[in-house]
Amino acid sequence: MHVPPLPHLAATDPELAGLIEAEAQRQHDKLRMIPSENYVSTAVLEATGSVLTNKYSEGYAGKRYYEGQQLIDPIETLTVERARSLFGVDHANVQPYSGSPANLAVYLAFLNPGDTLLGMALAMGGHLTHGSPVSVSGRWFRPVGYSVRKDTGRVDFDEVRELARAERPKVIFCGGTAIPRTIDFPAFAEIAREVGAVLVADIAHIAGLIAGGAHPSPVGYADVITTTTHKTLRGPRGAMIMSTEEHAKALDKAVFPGLQGGPHNHTTAGIAVALHEAAQPAFRDYAHQVVANARALAAALTERGFDLVSGGTDNHLILIDLASKGIPGKPAAKALDRAGIELNFNAVPYDPRRPFDPSGIRLGTPALTTRGLTEEQMPQVAAWMDDTITAALKDDEAAISAIAGEVRDLLSGYPMPGFAAA
Ligand SMILES: *Cc1c(COP(=O)(O)O)cnc(C)c1O
Repeated sequence: MHVPPLPHLAATDPELAGLIEAEAQRQHDKLRMIPSENYVSTAVLEATGSVLTNKYSEGYAGKRYYEGQQLIDPIETLTVERARSLFGVDHANVQPYSGSPANLAVYLAFLNPGDTLLGMALAMGGHLTHGSPVSVSGRWFRPVGYSVRKDTGRVDFDEVRELARAERPKVIFCGGTAIPRTIDFPAFAEIAREVGAVLVADIAHIAGLIAGGAHPSPVGYADVITTTTHKTLRGPRGAMIMSTEEHAKALDKAVFPGLQGGPHNHTTAGIAVALHEAAQPAFRDYAHQVVANARALAAALTERGFDLVSGGTDNHLILIDLASKGIPGKPAAKALDRAGIELNFNAVPYDPRRPFDPSGIRLGTPALTTRGLTEEQMPQVAAWMDDTITAALKDDEAAISAIAGEVRDLLSGYPMPGFAAA
């Protein structure tokens, strides 16, 4: 049963209530390993489901365009203060609707159409919004993409420096969406300083690890930090832009009125709760456990002959090239989903296949760590993955459903926030 319960929804709209209940059950029964996903706490669910959704509040605390902000102002100010204190930054804007609009606001603050930006290429692990030609970031600006080395799977700073010197970008993005290794913020900062570019660290995936001390912080190196709030940070879907005092005004103006109208106050409140939770000692344990689990899983997968991009992981994420297993990423991801193991097909660096039918899969440990799984269960998870792929290659659907049952049995011992067994 969904927690908080949905009796009013069930009465008003039973069809939709039924779908939400089924989704809660699905999230409970599956090993959720999409590395950008998590389970928020029931407290976060309550805040995001509150009457704050009723209120319009264009502007910022103390400078709003509508009346009735007596309580919204302190809510947003509290959220901003919590972000500043958790990450140790001068300035935080908590209004971006999600990670992509947050990055778009950064472009609006620093670039004119046609200006050059340097980011990790999408095919190498960067995000769409770091200059992909199909994104507005690549269509309205002049994107230059850096790679990872073919032999190491890691960023080659000689290449980044060469590109920066040759192309003179106004903005350099570091961070991405399929990077299994620690981001070297000081190395990026040195290059950005040399060419006079604004360095933006997009920490969407790793914000929770940074808050919990399980990944180095970009603070002091990056001029601007963007992040989603719903990945390892374990808050509601949303985003923040953090910066030094120098860039605060330009970024605030870019978010509102540059790009957005009224902030989503119910989301802001959910972010406040998540930031409060992330400041507790238990969250440090969580962040370190996420990494310990990913390391243990990477070791177990390697032992079973899986080919991990860069040879392993430093963070929450694992990228696997399945070529050695004789199956492309998409059929593997679909079979694993039928086996109760939810992850996504993904391109690997230098992928010879097409993006919608690539060679790899991407997975991570943030959500299963929230459920309470530890290193102890990771060899079993690796075994299930291996057995599922073997079964998929033999079209053995019975074996795949048997694994789904075993996954469900294991997870019945690990409570899920947002769900209670009926
Ligand atoms: C997830 C992600 C985003 C975008 O977030 P959305 O909320 O999906 O728009 C931006 N940058 C990186 C690196 C991400 O991983």
